[in-house]
Amino acid sequence: MPGGQYQVFQHSVYSLTDSSEAGPEDEEADTTVRLTPLQKLTTEMCKDEKTIKDLMIGRRVGFYKVRGEIGYGTFSRVKLAFNALTKDKVALKILDKTRLDTQAQRLLSREISSMESLQHPNVIRLYEVVETPSRLYLVLEYAGGGDLHNKICNEGKLSDNTSKIAFAQILSAIKYLHNLNIIHRDLKAENVLFTSSSCVKVADFGFSTRVSSRSDSLDTFCGSPPYAAPELFKDECYLGPPVDVWAMGVLLFFMVTGSMPFRAETMGKLRRSIIEGVYTIPPWVPGPCQRLIKGILKPVPTDRYAIDQMLGCDWLLPVEFPWLLLPAEAGSSLQSLLESENRVMEEEEEVRSLLEELGFTTVHIQNNDLTDTRSPVTGVYRILLDRVQKRRGYDIPPVVRGMVRDPKREGLRAYRGLRHTSKLCVLS
Ligand code: ATP
Ligand code: MG
Repeated sequence: MPGGQYQVFQHSVYSLTDSSEAGPEDEEADTTVRLTPLQKLTTEMCKDEKTIKDLMIGRRVGFYKVRGEIGYGTFSRVKLAFNALTKDKVALKILDKTRLDTQAQRLLSREISSMESLQHPNVIRLYEVVETPSRLYLVLEYAGGGDLHNKICNEGKLSDNTSKIAFAQILSAIKYLHNLNIIHRDLKAENVLFTSSSCVKVADFGFSTRVSSRSDSLDTFCGSPPYAAPELFKDECYLGPPVDVWAMGVLLFFMVTGSMPFRAETMGKLRRSIIEGVYTIPPWVPGPCQRLIKGILKPVPTDRYAIDQMLGCDWLLPVEFPWLLLPAEAGSSLQSLLESENRVMEEEEEVRSLLEELGFTTVHIQNNDLTDTRSPVTGVYRILLDRVQKRRGYDIPPVVRGMVRDPKREGLRAYRGLRHTSKLCVLS
C-alpha cells in the first residue's frame, strides 16, 4: 500500500541516525553488541518484515502501535495507540484526507495550528502529526476516563461538588485559550474528556479559530445547535468569547441537572427557544449555581458574564486548585519567575536524560526542532515532558474546601509538596 511505503520512507527523512555514530563497517558489530531502543525501532521499521507490514496496513503509524477504536466523530475515528519507544498510551485521531472537502481541510489545519501551541493541564495535548498520502493522524494525549456526555447519560447528573470541580477546570482551560486569542467554538459535553484520575481535558479543536483580538467579529456558524448562543442564529457576525461562555452555561446546566436547558424536536423550534432564551432551572439547584447559570445564559452577548466574573462567582469560591507549576506570567514577582525558570530547567534536564536512555543523542536533538509537530522526535519529547509534568502533579484536579478528601490523593499531594491556593485565577 502506498501509504505504508510512504511512512517507512518518512523515517529516513527524519534522519534519526546520528552522524557522529559508527560508520557502516561498524554496523554489524553494533547490532550484535547492543542497540539502543531507538536504533532497534528504526532498524525494525526499515528491515523487519512484520513491522513493515504493520506500517503498510495501518497497524503501526510512525512510532505508534495502533490498538482498538475508542471513539469517533463527524470527521474522524479515534484509536488507542502506544508509542513503541516510551510505551505511553496516546489517542490517535485518524482523518481520511480523501473525504475532506476544502472547508474541512481548512478546519483541520486550524485544529492543528491551534493545538500545537497549547500546553495546559485541562487541554488535550497534541504530541505529533503523522501524514500519509491518504490519511492524517493526530497523536493526542490520551484521556482514559470517558467523556462528560456519556458519564451523565450513564450515571445521571453530577453532584454539586463534582460539578464545581469539573466546571472550574473547564473554565481554567477556556480562560487560558481566550488569553491566547483562541476561541474553541465547539464546547459540548462530548468534547469534555476525563483522565483516569478524573482530571478534565477539553478536546476537539476542529472548529477553533485564532483571532487577532478578542473583539474581532466572526461569521461562521460553528458547533452543536443545542449549545449555540442566540447571536449565532440571528446575527451575521458574532464575537468569539461570549459564544464559548454561552456554551459553558449550557454545559453547566447539563452537569447540575442532567438535562439540557433548550430542547426541541425540530431545529426551527430549538432555534426559537434559544433566541427567546426561556429555560427553567429546577428549584433544587443551589442558589449560587442558579445565579451563575443566569449570569451566563443572557441573550445579549454584552450582558453575559465574562470569564473573570465566572471565576469570581460565589459558587466557585470553595474550589481550591493545587499550586500549579505553570510558567510564571510577565509581571509576576522576580522570585516566581526564577522559580518557574528553575522548574522548566529541571524538567528539561529530566526529559533529556530520558531521551538519552532511549538512544537520542545531542545531535538527534539538535537536528530536530522540538517544536516541529511533524517530527517523531518532537512526539517522543512531548510525551516524555507530559509524563514528567504529570509526575510533578501538574494535572491533579482541584478540590472543594470542606469536602471529604481521598486519603490516597492527599498523600500524593503532601508527598509532592504541593501548596494550595483558594484563588481560581492562579490558572490564568
Ligand atoms: P465531532 O466534530 O463530531 O465532535 P471529531 O471528528 O472532531 O468529532 P473528536 O471529538 O475529537 O472528533 O473525537 C471523537 C471522540 O473520540 C470523542 O468524543 C471521544 O470519545 C474520543 N476521543 C477523542 N480524543 C480523545 C482523547 N484524546 N482521548 C480519549 N478519547 C478521545
Ligand atoms: Mg467531538
